[in-house]
Amino acid sequence: MDTASYDAAVEGLKKLLSEKGGELQAVAAAKIEQITAELKAETNGKVGFDAAERLKTGFITFKQEKYLKNPELFGELSKGQSPKYMIVACCDSRVCPSHVLDIQPGEAFVVRNIANMIPPFDKTKQTGFGAAIEYAVLHLKVENIVVIGHSCCGGIKGLMGCTHDGDHTTDFIETWVKLGLPAKAKVIAESANCSPEEQIKLLEKEAVNTSLANALTYPFVRAGLLNKTLALKGGYYDFVNGSFELWKLDVTQTPSFSL
Ligand SMILES: [Zn+2]
Repeated sequence: MDTASYDAAVEGLKKLLSEKGGELQAVAAAKIEQITAELKAETNGKVGFDAAERLKTGFITFKQEKYLKNPELFGELSKGQSPKYMIVACCDSRVCPSHVLDIQPGEAFVVRNIANMIPPFDKTKQTGFGAAIEYAVLHLKVENIVVIGHSCCGGIKGLMGCTHDGDHTTDFIETWVKLGLPAKAKVIAESANCSPEEQIKLLEKEAVNTSLANALTYPFVRAGLLNKTLALKGGYYDFVNGSFELWKLDVTQTPSFSL
């Protein structure tokens, strides 16, 4: 946000507060009361959730169980990183690749976004992703780019349900998930007889292939493939059935493994 829009937003907020100050204060007071009550409430013997405390205990556990027990690893990592993988995964809280694949610190350069999308090369759009893939390939020299889709993906469900008339109800989400439109067209054309649930599952996997195809639009990715210093892989984590598949980017999509 630039300074002008920030100032405008603050002015707008001030105006709103001056116009509806009493009303908002009452709402705020009620909310504070409710939150305090929730914090104090004991449900099934559990005290209300304390966000800061959870992070604190989480870090203490990590430090005791991982950091202090692996001085050699963390000593090396303090000097730099040379991960073998760039992983593109969904933001979904259930699919953290470090957990699912037992990835240790320093092993993978991870980008997470809605529905694990790789946008096509474009210096004027989605530069956050462009910067990440450029850094991973050209500077960290990762040897593998792995795009991992997953079961019950809300982003993919949104892609399947989104309209094509440009009449969006979200500021960003629909525009973003529409990066997967080629995959959607393929699934609908080839699986017209499947149930909507089956089509969504197919789309969760096909969108991974669209992302891999988009990865090929980056010149440094193509160069890495030609020089055989880089490989592209697709993955799919099904947390309903507890399974994981991995496949190479090739025309036959030969599975590397299926567990
Ligand atoms: Zn997802």
